[in-house]
Amino acid sequence: MNQQAAKKEEGRKVQLENIQAGKTVADVIRTCLGPRAMLKMLMDPMGGIVMTSDGNAILREIMVHHPAAKSLIETARSQDEEVGDGTTSVVILAGELLAVASPFMEQKEHPVVVIGAYLRALDDALTAITEDIAQPIDTSDKEALLSSLQAVVGTKMLRKWSRLACEIALDAVQTVFMEEHGTKEIDIKRYAKVEKIPGGELEDSKVLRGVMLNKDVTHSSMRRRIEKPRIILLDCNLEYTKGESKTDVEFMKDQDFTRVLQLEEEYIKRICDDIIAHKPDLIITEKGVSDLAQHYLAKHNITALRRVRKSDNNRIARACGATIVNRTDEIKETDIGTGCGLFEIRKVGDEYFTFIEECDSPKACTILLRGASKDILMEVERNLQDAMHAARNILLDPRLVPGGGATEMELSVRLSELAKSIEGVSQWPYKAVAKAIEVIPRTLIQNCGGNTIRTLTALRAKHAAGNNVTWGIDGDTGEIADMKEVGVWEPIRVKSQTIKTAVETAIMLLRIDKIVSGIKRPV
Ligand code: ADP
Repeated sequence: MNQQAAKKEEGRKVQLENIQAGKTVADVIRTCLGPRAMLKMLMDPMGGIVMTSDGNAILREIMVHHPAAKSLIETARSQDEEVGDGTTSVVILAGELLAVASPFMEQKEHPVVVIGAYLRALDDALTAITEDIAQPIDTSDKEALLSSLQAVVGTKMLRKWSRLACEIALDAVQTVFMEEHGTKEIDIKRYAKVEKIPGGELEDSKVLRGVMLNKDVTHSSMRRRIEKPRIILLDCNLEYTKGESKTDVEFMKDQDFTRVLQLEEEYIKRICDDIIAHKPDLIITEKGVSDLAQHYLAKHNITALRRVRKSDNNRIARACGATIVNRTDEIKETDIGTGCGLFEIRKVGDEYFTFIEECDSPKACTILLRGASKDILMEVERNLQDAMHAARNILLDPRLVPGGGATEMELSVRLSELAKSIEGVSQWPYKAVAKAIEVIPRTLIQNCGGNTIRTLTALRAKHAAGNNVTWGIDGDTGEIADMKEVGVWEPIRVKSQTIKTAVETAIMLLRIDKIVSGIKRPV
């Protein structure tokens, strides 16, 4: 009996500790939310210093020991990978949801009751977002898409660059957009590659209708400009391959050696003939091209590029409609890419680059960024990645919700209202969720140095009066404002995912009643 009581005590203690760990992590990055975020100075073990207000970057650097804190940090990382935004918000919200659960744990309420109420509140919140709060965007109207994108990311970057960044991001994301069997796919990482070349003006940056590679042709006599080329992509060697395992060859006569060389030559000739038979203008391989093969190819007016990266080859394939072939004797007419308008080697800055451009309907692209220095280009790329993630979120689900804590305050007011109709003990944790969600507008006010209680009460009153869904906090002044006028919006995918992940993480941590360390006891 006694032992059981001791076990229960242990469970409660673990839950309270987890709550504390979650709150601590959230407190670290609380001041990093919104446009008036404070910077953190991070020192890495090598003594390097980074200054940033990016919640995810900070969490990646800090060292934590508590498993609950680690799992909260992991949540932020997966949020970043999934939707590319909302990392600070998800941690702050999860921390608050844990904090409001602590009185229930102290009062020995069973975690199952709390968890049930949290799940119910999550369901109601998601329904309210999709049914009442979200506003659709017309994806066929390019100007509407651009201004929505600017409302999502505009405040995060320099005004001068924001319009161009949004245009580039939208163009790139629309290029790699694929819809098959009703599922939409936008793989930015794989198919929209950013190439930074120092020099030139920021305004020279653009999305190529095709792909650019840092490569030159293998032989100087090959053509460096071809209009409408027929392209063959390979991932095999165009040189004599040695045996798979270690091979020893013993020659009895001196003619034998000549014969071996002859065989090698014949092999190269045969694979080149396989290629030449298809009359390509350009061949690109991921492996090597021997001198002899270059000779045969150049003689037939074929240009060759060698040792191209697998990822680059995949992008070329999607840009010009080719299929990568593994053996030269298996090349078919359908594998040949004919969608490219122009192949050209050009000098940009100090180096030669291959351009495979003017493609008919490219499904992959290169984004060429120009700027005065490497540091500027790094910052520009970070902004562009943010804009591309936002564009992806908007195209995958073209609906926006108001930012600046407006959505959260609306949800809080609605959940508080709904809580009144819930009977029994689960009413209290449900109400607690409504309260916890206010943490986003509250933190935005705090980070501006505003009067939290007064402003939050005014905002709550605005929403309670009805028909003021878009009212939130102006992140620069810390006062209440209509987000329609301030122009701060967020994609519905980010908002729903943030709330869902935060509630699910809090639930996961509340469900733990024992932490078992994996260290072996000494025998
Ligand atoms: P996260 O990593 O969560 O995206 P951010 O620091 O980007 O963190 O802050 C995002 C939050 O700040 C969102 O709730 C967004 O609506 C709000 N926000 C961004 N810009 C403004 C602004 N100018 N005014 C008010 N709120 C803003």
